[in-house]
Amino acid sequence: MKLWYPYTQMKNLNPYPEVIKGKGALLHLNDGRILVDGVSSWWSSIHGYNNEELNKTLVEQTQKISHVMLGGLTHKPAKELAEKLVEITPKGLNHVFFSDSGSVGVEVALKMSIQYWSNKNKSKKNKFISLTNSYHGDTFKAMEVSDDSDFIQAFSGILNKGYFINAPIDGFLQKDIENDCKVLEQILIYNHKNIAAFILEPIVQCAGGFKIYSPNFLKEVRKLCNQYDVLLIFDEVATGFGRTGKLFASEHSNVTPDILILGKALTAGYLGHAATLATTKVFNCFLGKNYENAFMHGPTFMGNPLACSIALKSIEIFEREEYLKKIQQIEAIITDEFSKISSPFIIEKRIIGAIGAIELYDKKYIDGFKEFALQNNVWLRPIGNIIYLMPPYIIKKKELKKILKVINNWFILIHLKHDN
Ligand SMILES: *Cc1c(COP(=O)(O)O)cnc(C)c1O
Repeated sequence: MKLWYPYTQMKNLNPYPEVIKGKGALLHLNDGRILVDGVSSWWSSIHGYNNEELNKTLVEQTQKISHVMLGGLTHKPAKELAEKLVEITPKGLNHVFFSDSGSVGVEVALKMSIQYWSNKNKSKKNKFISLTNSYHGDTFKAMEVSDDSDFIQAFSGILNKGYFINAPIDGFLQKDIENDCKVLEQILIYNHKNIAAFILEPIVQCAGGFKIYSPNFLKEVRKLCNQYDVLLIFDEVATGFGRTGKLFASEHSNVTPDILILGKALTAGYLGHAATLATTKVFNCFLGKNYENAFMHGPTFMGNPLACSIALKSIEIFEREEYLKKIQQIEAIITDEFSKISSPFIIEKRIIGAIGAIELYDKKYIDGFKEFALQNNVWLRPIGNIIYLMPPYIIKKKELKKILKVINNWFILIHLKHDN
């Protein structure tokens, strides 16, 4: 096979379903089948597919300019998007650096933190703290701040890993997190002189297993990072743009990080792009007489005018159509339908915003699930021992219920299979 697929054992690969068209939350296949999409194409297509307003925006921008370098030239879509992102993200994040994907947005954040300290003549501060179960992308430095998993196994011998701590395990409502912060504090006390930043996904660790933790943890982390002079980075590539029920997951805690990364839903599934936002404290550290103090990064396609105009239009629709209300309704339906599922194979059901996840005791209970969903015209793609859905926000009630019905039916099926 000429085409090499991601995360895929290519030996004896069964042909993948071929998509010829999308509309709303539906994917049309070349054999006539129509699938309801429960994954939003890796959580990006929040308006579904083939949105007329977004299509029009793209065409109009193409007729003006599709791409121009941001090194030495500028343009309105990039300037306006920067302004809009500063307006809607937590207060204090005043500067926006664009790049072409979430992983690169993470690289930018990590490089920014390292150079921040080196500009302050503290170049020993170059290590990172992250959470166990974290996933921050597939590039090298992103792998270093990600927890061990199938994704990085082949490279583990050459990765220069930093510090890892456990996120609290008692869920969103956990009040007392003092104990959960003890290890973090110890690491900071003894090693803060070597640590540039703490990077984490606020509230939900998505690819790391849809683990949900308390906003109180973020508040405590913010306090400790301030106390020990360590930058705080929020990776909202997955959680941003409403996924957890707030526009940004950091809003659950009212914590502003020093650096924030956005990607995936930023461009609504139309084009790859990411934004790394920084506070004025971080930005100012790159000002000075020396060229070397300037931030040394610049992807070819950063600030791409098509990507920026799509992002602007996507945010406009999100606000105008009150997507946060739609997300609340999605959460209510998932909660209701999940409550009908009960199984001895389930460790935990987790729901927040437009995310529903069911963790099972063993991967074997998920064998064949993707195929089962496909047979029922639903597109879902479990991660490890977890079945999850993250549908487009425009999904119809009927379509959403269909996805949830398929999940429910799966449990009936495996009960029969594993009972005898
Ligand atoms: C997907 C993801 C990334 C990587 O983004 P890509 O666009 O795939 O490079 C980084 N961080 C988080 C939290 C993600 O979910």
